[in-house]
Amino acid sequence: PRVHEVLVQKAGKKLGLPVIPSRMAMLTRPNHGRAACHYCGQCGRGCKTASAFSSSQTMVLPAMKTGKLNVICNAMARELLTGPDGKVTGVSYVDKPTRTEKQIRCRAVVVAASACESARLLLNSKSTRFPNGIANSSGMLGRNLTDTVGYGLGGQIPALENLPRHNCDGIGGMHVYVPWWLLDDKKKNFPRGYHIEIGGGFGMPQIGGFRGHEGYGAKLKEEVRRYYGSYVGFAGRGEMIPNEHTYCEIDPEKVDQWGIPVLRFHFRWSEHEINQAKHMHDTFNDLIVAMGGKPQPRASRREDGGISVGGSIIHEAGTVSMGNDPAKSVLNKYCQAHEVKNLFVADAAPFISNADKNVTLTIVANAWRTAEYLAEEMRKGNV
Ligand SMILES: Cc1cc2nc3c(=O)[nH]c(=O)nc-3n(C[C@H](O)[C@H](O)[C@H](O)COP(=O)(O)OP(=O)(O)OC[C@H]3O[C@@H](n4cnc5c(N)ncnc54)[C@H](O)[C@@H]3O)c2cc1C
Ligand code: SF4
Repeated sequence: PRVHEVLVQKAGKKLGLPVIPSRMAMLTRPNHGRAACHYCGQCGRGCKTASAFSSSQTMVLPAMKTGKLNVICNAMARELLTGPDGKVTGVSYVDKPTRTEKQIRCRAVVVAASACESARLLLNSKSTRFPNGIANSSGMLGRNLTDTVGYGLGGQIPALENLPRHNCDGIGGMHVYVPWWLLDDKKKNFPRGYHIEIGGGFGMPQIGGFRGHEGYGAKLKEEVRRYYGSYVGFAGRGEMIPNEHTYCEIDPEKVDQWGIPVLRFHFRWSEHEINQAKHMHDTFNDLIVAMGGKPQPRASRREDGGISVGGSIIHEAGTVSMGNDPAKSVLNKYCQAHEVKNLFVADAAPFISNADKNVTLTIVANAWRTAEYLAEEMRKGNV
């Protein structure tokens, strides 16, 4: 941990919060041709040595090297085509450079266009058998949309002022983390929980980083030197429970530049999430005070009460939900459409809730499981 993180650990101990090493999808040792992390701290810009996980570097490139993967670039899928038995027979797409329509035939299709775009593609795939979108007899396509609950609070910590300058880059992002710690708390007034992400240190100063220290000349320089590195930020990321008011559907009037109908969104937080955000506020306030600091509201897009604007945490999930009951879900537990056996969805669309963990690694794990099931079903001749 870096110096501000050591102070957070001490404050966490006082308040009974577990502040543990942060789990990151980065290599500490070389693996399958990917180098170990060299601690440049620039993960947000993409990792040149592929030490941080990204599907393009870690999965797509190795798959291409097998010679069994053919990537068709600049293809905008318009709809899935079906045969008389309702199965998918191919995909119709726009070849973007030539703006022409093309088709590709398939034995099975795995849609992974990200949660909302997958729902859009399925809703736009209409036929006599599926007039409301493929595999949508339940009417659940687009429903159960969720985002992560977000709340943030920062603080200025006098104990961190005028610290000697040092390089504190290390691995990109936070080095400590607070997992949800009140699993057995019966008194709290919201279901599930949230984790806490921690910011601070001598990172590249951002615009607005020295708010409140305006001025000129020597005095301004002295203030900037004094306060640089003395700020910490806490970001809560919590679980949203799906509700009937939050969903996406095809906009009856608007199309994109390819003439493909776009989605329109309806989003509402329920009391669960609003209460959770209040809990985040109180916790972050307590942490900052325990560090001897002064809480400072952050300038970011928020609704009344400080909860994030729905969609702004960019962890969309739901929309093509999985479940055992075909009347209430689109996919089965293997992310295979109940009604179309050769149609699979392998992104966050199948999630029936948006657990407090950030979505990507769960998408990857679930997609892996779906791929193994599909391979087995193909071997057996069921797909
Ligand atoms: C700025 C930002 C920061 C984030 N940070 C984190 C984080 O720290 N941790 C975390 O877990 N998650 C994070 N997320 C969320 C995470 O990136 C997404 O949940 C995840 O990438 C979704 O993966 P996916 O494969 O479903 O979709 P994507 O990664 O969006 O891939 C979908 C692909 O499908 C293509 N596509 C879509 N529609 C069509 C179509 N009709 N035809 C052809 N191709 C199509 C898209 O071009 C895209 O390449 C972040 C998201 C953003 C935007
Ligand atoms: S710090 Fe991030 S970008 Fe730099 S090498 Fe490590 S994983 Fe890659």
